[in-house]
Amino acid sequence: MNTPSTRGVARLVRGMPTSDGAGVKLTRVIGQPQLADLDPFLMLDEFGTDNPGDYIAGFPDHPHRGFETVTYMLDGRMRHRDNHGHEGVLVPGSVQWMTAGRGIVHSEMPEQQEGRMRGFQLWINLPARDKMTAPRYQEFGPEKIPQIDSGAARVKVIAGQIGGITGPIIQPATEPTYLDIALAPGTEFTHVLPADHAAFAYVYEGSVRIGEGAAAATVAAHELAVLGPGETVRLEGRSAAGERGAAARVVLVAGRPLGEPVAKYGPFVMNTREELMQAFEDFQNGRF
Ligand code: MN
Repeated sequence: MNTPSTRGVARLVRGMPTSDGAGVKLTRVIGQPQLADLDPFLMLDEFGTDNPGDYIAGFPDHPHRGFETVTYMLDGRMRHRDNHGHEGVLVPGSVQWMTAGRGIVHSEMPEQQEGRMRGFQLWINLPARDKMTAPRYQEFGPEKIPQIDSGAARVKVIAGQIGGITGPIIQPATEPTYLDIALAPGTEFTHVLPADHAAFAYVYEGSVRIGEGAAAATVAAHELAVLGPGETVRLEGRSAAGERGAAARVVLVAGRPLGEPVAKYGPFVMNTREELMQAFEDFQNGRF
């Protein structure tokens, strides 16, 4: 029997400060010049601030077509409303998985005047055959996200499988894995991913040693490690300077690459330029 090979760190990427929506300050990690995309992932934003001025304007009505957006809230409350009649408030620890499909117009607005707002939004591409599927909205409160405590590691399973535990998100096209992992210093966590899946780890607190031997690297907070070929992901928690004993926190995300042409403009992600033009026309004529 072969031992699954361990994935090394192929690249380290730091996010770029930017703003989006009506002026929300955030850090774009995937979808910026250093890392334009990581098929099937089109964008990763981290938002995190204690200053209401950075988030209060929110994301008023805007369209999407051709992919899925996944919002994972760590702190704060955000209200979603869309033109297909879905509405919900994202609370800390909850996940929203929105399939834009052939078109959705939604708003994402803070449901608070003050305090901390923190979380991630990930965009996952849809294959050509699903780009014009019916829009779908799924929301999972913190109680719907299975949590596994194995020794000094705590893992929330948003998507994917660990042992017999499966996260609530099922997407056969890309088979995503999305784990939120807290690791006490010195604690090791390993997870086997399909060899053909693209994978990244984004550290958001403390630091994490990723890989083993010569291919291992220490990844600091707010750095994304693109994982190299292999199957097993090996993570080891390191505490940040001045935070002795504090757990490191990292999201591990993987999915099957689509290997299709990407034509992307703002909130529309299609396969060809003609389909993008059609998306603009359909949006402008109220066909979302
Ligand atoms: Mn949106």
